[in-house]
Amino acid sequence: MSYLAKNYNRKKISFKYGKGSFLYSKDNKKYLDFVQGIAVNSLGHAHPKLVKAINNQSKKLWHVSNSFQIPEGEKLAKKICQKTFADYVMFQNSGAEATEAAIKVARRYFYFIGKPNKNRILCIKNSFHGRTLAAIYASGSKKMTEGFGPKIAGFDHFRFGDHKSLEKKITKKTAAIMIEPIMGEGGIKVIPEWCLKELRKLCNKKKILLILDEVQCGISRTGSFFSFEKSKIKPDIVPIAKGIGGGFPIGAVLMNKKVAAGMTPGTHGSTFGGNPLAMAVGNTVMDIVSTKQFLNNVKKSSKYFLSNLNKLKEKYPKIIKEIRGRGLLIGIQLYKGQSNFIKKLMYNKLLTIRAADQVVRVLPPLNVKKKEIDQALKIINKVCAELK
Ligand SMILES: *Cc1c(COP(=O)(O)O)cnc(C)c1O
Repeated sequence: MSYLAKNYNRKKISFKYGKGSFLYSKDNKKYLDFVQGIAVNSLGHAHPKLVKAINNQSKKLWHVSNSFQIPEGEKLAKKICQKTFADYVMFQNSGAEATEAAIKVARRYFYFIGKPNKNRILCIKNSFHGRTLAAIYASGSKKMTEGFGPKIAGFDHFRFGDHKSLEKKITKKTAAIMIEPIMGEGGIKVIPEWCLKELRKLCNKKKILLILDEVQCGISRTGSFFSFEKSKIKPDIVPIAKGIGGGFPIGAVLMNKKVAAGMTPGTHGSTFGGNPLAMAVGNTVMDIVSTKQFLNNVKKSSKYFLSNLNKLKEKYPKIIKEIRGRGLLIGIQLYKGQSNFIKKLMYNKLLTIRAADQVVRVLPPLNVKKKEIDQALKIINKVCAELK
């Protein structure tokens, strides 16, 4: 009997410890972990530098209130701003909190400049921005919002790829468009570069803000620090989380100077957000994953993995419909039988996780080794052969 609430349908497996790309189960079996806590453990399990960082900090100082200076947070915010479009960072503890804070920053900006009626956020129908009340109504998913009313007002939706309706849905009351540059839970759907460029132009034309939710696709996951970087656009607000903590819960909202003006003292806060323990880990993750050499390695691993997955797609055209994704944010779209496929991969000691659209998500750590990719490819090939 479990005393945990039943909001998760958990697999009957637990793990004793992890090392790099591998997890070791309670019954002493070794699994190749290509879930990594859903794109969270950027550097795999128990990375020695992260272990050292958290150990050292834990002996000094875990937590102080944000009403005092926190030098570790100052340091991480500076690193993030120096690497990205951002001028300011506000630390949170999770992705949902970061997206909520992003919405608050957008609304507060228009309030601050004397346009409080500009407060609606336009999102993609069935996107994913987390599980808090505002975030589920931002996603507009029937399944996620069912039974959680009354509806949180202030969100409008357009369908993925439907540019006409996107333009039509922008009204005088729209404050911002918020999208994931790559829809993670939605099935690893990549918004193309030209689309992001047009989106930026549209926001400029309509004088509204652009929020890019990089909670899943950010922090070097796609081979650039942010997935939108290839399009060369600058968003106004970017929530991040998952990968930045390497397994320690950290979220943040990044913003430019213009919108940051509204965030005056007292407008937002978080007891835990940006505490010294979290920041010690975050700084270490940031130092490793943001170097050019590290990013080049992600690109290299990605190229190898994607090209070989595409070969499997050609070999099994009746099973694999499409290989999706960028960097090491990868989706294998099947024609059918997603959960059976994931089960079979797990039976063969490869852990993956579902996404919408019959997509099997493959999320190795960013420092994955070639031989580990080979091992995964071998298992995927074996499962496809069995299903043929
Ligand atoms: C995971 C995710 C979130 C929510 O993050 P939590 O830490 O689970 O609250 C928000 N947006 C995107 C794009 C995500 O993938």
